[in-house]
Amino acid sequence: MDECPCGNCGSERTRVSGWSVSPEMVYLECADCGHITAVIGPSVRRMVPTCPTCGKLVRLELVRVPASDGFVRAGDPCVRRATCEDGHVVWL
Ligand SMILES: [Zn+2]
Ligand SMILES: [Zn+2]
Repeated sequence: MDECPCGNCGSERTRVSGWSVSPEMVYLECADCGHITAVIGPSVRRMVPTCPTCGKLVRLELVRVPASDGFVRAGDPCVRRATCEDGHVVWL
């Protein structure tokens, strides 16, 4: 994976703090100065999950699995649902 240095101090100790599906953009948070750098371009798709069907970026949501009686309670297990812009849904 390419290094994506901080746009403020140039540090390479960055981590993905979030992303946007449209436009395709990743937010990198710098561990040294706390600056948030927005990254747009082909490297975006290498840093965040993409749809296995169409290759676009996906939105991740945590979804609770209902118990056998159909009710959802705090503490129930969560699954991650990924939805892409075209509406493909993947369960991770
Ligand atoms: Zn920095
Ligand atoms: Zn898709």
